[in-house]
Amino acid sequence: MIRYSCDLCHRTLQPHEKRYVVRMDVFPGNEEIYPEDLEEDRDHLAELNQLLEGLDDEALEQPGCHQFRYDLCPQCYQRFVRNPLGREVSLPFNISQN
Ligand SMILES: [Zn+2]
Repeated sequence: MIRYSCDLCHRTLQPHEKRYVVRMDVFPGNEEIYPEDLEEDRDHLAELNQLLEGLDDEALEQPGCHQFRYDLCPQCYQRFVRNPLGREVSLPFNISQN
């Protein structure tokens, strides 16, 4: 049985806990590269193998493209969706008046 652990807090997820998968694609916005197009060509078995290995070499074939995949526990998921880019949130939200 595959046991997952949270990639943020490194806690091992219990079988009854919901696991949240975060996938991020980074690619140059000025080029005609869309991850959706790349995925259509994918062999689903190969994709499954990549998931199991935690690797995604295919995304690295395109220069400037990176694909990230993380498993999150429910608590980290809640924090992640509120602040996906890990921006500073301790400061009160304010707009410069200058
Ligand atoms: Zn966590």
